[in-house]
Amino acid sequence: MRTLVRNGTVVTASDAYVGDVLVEGETVALIGSSLDVHADCVIDAAGKYVLPGGIDVHTHLDMPFGGSASADDFESGTTAAAFGGTTSIVDFAIQYPGQTLHHAWDAWMRKASGKAVIDYGFHMVITELNDQVEAEMDALVDQGVTSFKLFMAYPGVLMLDDASMLRALLRTGKNGGTICVHAENGGAIDVLVTRALAEGKTAPRYHALTRPARAEAEATHRAIALAEIAGVPVYLVHVSSAEALAVVADARGRGVAAFAETCPQYLFLSSENYDEPGFDGAKYVMSPPLREKAGQEALWRGLAADDLQVVSTDHCPFRMKDQKALGRDDFSKIPSGIPGIETRMSLMYDGGVRAGRISLNRFVDLMSTSPAKIFGLFPRKGTIAPGSDADLVVFDPHRTITLSAGTLHTNVDYSPYEGRQVTGATDTVMSRGRVIIENGALVGRGGGGAFLKRAPRG
Ligand SMILES: [Zn+2]
Repeated sequence: MRTLVRNGTVVTASDAYVGDVLVEGETVALIGSSLDVHADCVIDAAGKYVLPGGIDVHTHLDMPFGGSASADDFESGTTAAAFGGTTSIVDFAIQYPGQTLHHAWDAWMRKASGKAVIDYGFHMVITELNDQVEAEMDALVDQGVTSFKLFMAYPGVLMLDDASMLRALLRTGKNGGTICVHAENGGAIDVLVTRALAEGKTAPRYHALTRPARAEAEATHRAIALAEIAGVPVYLVHVSSAEALAVVADARGRGVAAFAETCPQYLFLSSENYDEPGFDGAKYVMSPPLREKAGQEALWRGLAADDLQVVSTDHCPFRMKDQKALGRDDFSKIPSGIPGIETRMSLMYDGGVRAGRISLNRFVDLMSTSPAKIFGLFPRKGTIAPGSDADLVVFDPHRTITLSAGTLHTNVDYSPYEGRQVTGATDTVMSRGRVIIENGALVGRGGGGAFLKRAPRG
């Protein structure tokens, strides 16, 4: 099967040129201008961009919560991702206390198998570290699960102590894995939450007020310091505040291998959303919480200046009707997370490239190339080049769409961006040479996506 994507502007993290891309089987075979070759199928991309498929390295599909789970499973979640131009995700498998890492990995492989429309890999969340778990880290790196996430928040549930964090970081110095950190001071936050509830402060806005930016900045500093002591790189997930970003920028300025991501919600939404009427503030309950509007420009500058290397979504949707509602009388019981897997590319193109905050090449870098490089997928993913997987997005930079729960494909009953108009939208999407989105319709299928065995550092 040969497909020719003709006359589009091919954009990578470093180039943009009008050209033709010939796809043969699952990979890109040839790039040129006015290619005179036989193809079984021709896609006309004139006037549009041809981008490497988006890579979202922070999603939570089918994540257990209470007796249920996050509202998207691997089928609905990856379908929504595909509609938004994302062709690879890295989700989080969670080790629960008493479990081996392999038990957790098996559980998440079963969730994704036969359901995922796009390719998927896993980070492993470590909640309990002992000698056996450390040894298992090495085995997982060999098997393509090359990154691990540690929580500095949620004491007694997910949080790892500093000693365990340092041990895990040291281990990656030997096995080539990468440590990702959720940096918020969980102990301090728990004190503030308990105090707020005792004072009768139960509304959604108190979720944000009990998770101050200082608690994120402090933990960010500690995570980076531990990584420096171990002499290994570290990756900070969902940096939400100017305060935490300043800590990352300072470390990078000293030559420390600290990498970090932010998410669209921290660029487009703010703490003002918690003041929406009634219980609507619950729509925006996530951790870290939305911050003051004043900090957004600092995050945009961080993206432009490479203090932040990745934009992921932290997609973790919960329905308002029966899931967020659990916290109607107590903000600490509102499940934490929002949908975002489908809206990342359009939001970032509109608010980033069109608004003049980042270049078109930087946009591709943040959406695809940098996450591929940091998480062991490059050059198979993250660029358009001969031999790379034919994960291609034909992106129309002129088409305006209105974001709404009614038209998005995630399995949740609201959108945090309801009614927002954005210019720049996905037309056609290919995953390893197969068209999966065409003319606004899904033509891919659950089970079409494959497990991504990722490479270790170096
Ligand atoms: Zn997350």
